[in-house]
Amino acid sequence: MQRHTSSPNENFTIQSFFDALRNQGILIGALCNRCGWKMLPPRPACTKCFSTELQRLQLPKSGKVISFSEVHVSSDAFSRYVPYIVAIADFDGIRIPGMIKNANVKKVRVGALVEVRTKALSKISGADGLSQDGPEYWFELAGE
Ligand SMILES: [Zn+2]
Repeated sequence: MQRHTSSPNENFTIQSFFDALRNQGILIGALCNRCGWKMLPPRPACTKCFSTELQRLQLPKSGKVISFSEVHVSSDAFSRYVPYIVAIADFDGIRIPGMIKNANVKKVRVGALVEVRTKALSKISGADGLSQDGPEYWFELAGE
């Protein structure tokens, strides 16, 4: 017999993250109401205290670069982008990696503000016959 259960936090999933990225162009995470831990992408339970008392957290529009590097030699998957800039940016306590596009590396600084840009790629059909969405995000220098 199959049991059907539902969780109050069933929308705190990786699917909800990709849905918000594709449909609204935003990055969402979760904030733990018990201990204040922030998670991105959202998870059904806090990764620090295991509480399921969570609320949706939307990242602020801009974050601060805390580290960056220009890549000249990459794996095959990214070779078409060479040279490209990768960074870690802090969005109000959540640090995420990303590529900084449309920027001259000489203008990138630790502490510079970046904004998240998103694009919903068209459906990609895999060899297994399944198709998947390919939403993508990257950073651009704020005000550029
Ligand atoms: Zn917690």
